Amino acid sequence: MIAEDIAQTGNDAPSVIGFYRTASMEELIRKADAVCRQYHSNKVWLRGLIEFSNYCAMDCQYCGIRRSNSNVHRYRLTEDEIVITVQKGLEAGLRTFVLQSGEDPFFTTDRLCRLVERIKNTVPDNAAITLSCGIKTKAQFRALKNSGVDRYLMRFETSDRQLYAKLRNGVKLEDRVRALYDLKDLGYETGSGYMVGLPGETEDIRISNALLCRKLSLDMVGVGPFIPHPDTPLFSAAQMPIELAVRATALLRLLLPLANIPATTAAGTLDPMGREKMIEAGANVLMPNITPVEHKKDYLLYPNKICIGETGFECLGCLSSRVALSGKVLDFGRGNSLGRAFIPETRRGDAR
Ligand code: SAH
Repeated sequence: MIAEDIAQTGNDAPSVIGFYRTASMEELIRKADAVCRQYHSNKVWLRGLIEFSNYCAMDCQYCGIRRSNSNVHRYRLTEDEIVITVQKGLEAGLRTFVLQSGEDPFFTTDRLCRLVERIKNTVPDNAAITLSCGIKTKAQFRALKNSGVDRYLMRFETSDRQLYAKLRNGVKLEDRVRALYDLKDLGYETGSGYMVGLPGETEDIRISNALLCRKLSLDMVGVGPFIPHPDTPLFSAAQMPIELAVRATALLRLLLPLANIPATTAAGTLDPMGREKMIEAGANVLMPNITPVEHKKDYLLYPNKICIGETGFECLGCLSSRVALSGKVLDFGRGNSLGRAFIPETRRGDAR
């Protein structure tokens, strides 16, 4: 039913963009919230985030854990530590785990495959594993899919070619977009997204960012405000207001009614009510950070990150009362993409 509904709406992107450009913030949020409730009711899915390594071979201008930031205390969880963290998450009721890291050469595709196989052997069938470890070749993505990875997250950061190349030291946007198509082709639930408020970004770029997400028919879209980190080349960039990220959330919800859209930690960092604002503008996912507390302070992509002094499990009670403010409830289920509701689930070993 849902997929048919959307198909029947036809190509409504131009009218959505027209509305976005002219509507007041209040109107935009009201409409996005209505669409969110129509397709996702009052549920907010939970994903347990495990930041398992902050080693990174890349030197992205915006990122606090970039290779040349020598002030970062580097860490890497052992396989046992990762498995134990997942088990604690399961005990707390979580059913989706997002394993994120820098582009860490230690975690080769082989190592990641073995890790995922081990995790998959210890979790129930209704648990989903998401990886977010940067770009890989299609063959590597295929091997990971065959080892049991269900979903992959990889933001394209900005849809503007020049800005992308500048922020990522000459790396090409096309390569990342191609990798996202590879993921889709292999049957992954595919997630991407971008930062909002980057230096040099315009309103047109923000609109193109959202349209690229639509073009990719993403299952998951994460957006967050760019927050300048003092130990990066962008240390003196202006901090743009949270409203930009809230508007981006609303626009994405209107363009991708079925997508899972998180209210991101960066939004909660920039504004104490940032995640609530995103939930009211159409976000339907929260990602408690269940990384062992002793390492949380070292995974600082941006400064002043919230909740680094407590376990992600302590956060669950807090998150529950936060979503209640918007009349919503946390849901511990696997929270598959609605966009795939009518496509048979890809099972382990099915990937080409
Ligand atoms: N290595 C993985 C994970 C990257 S970190 C990958 O390449 O996909 C996750 C996200 O944090 C990035 O994709 C980026 O969008 C965001 N991020 C990095 N630095 C940031 C900053 N200064 N402010 C806000 N978000 C930031």
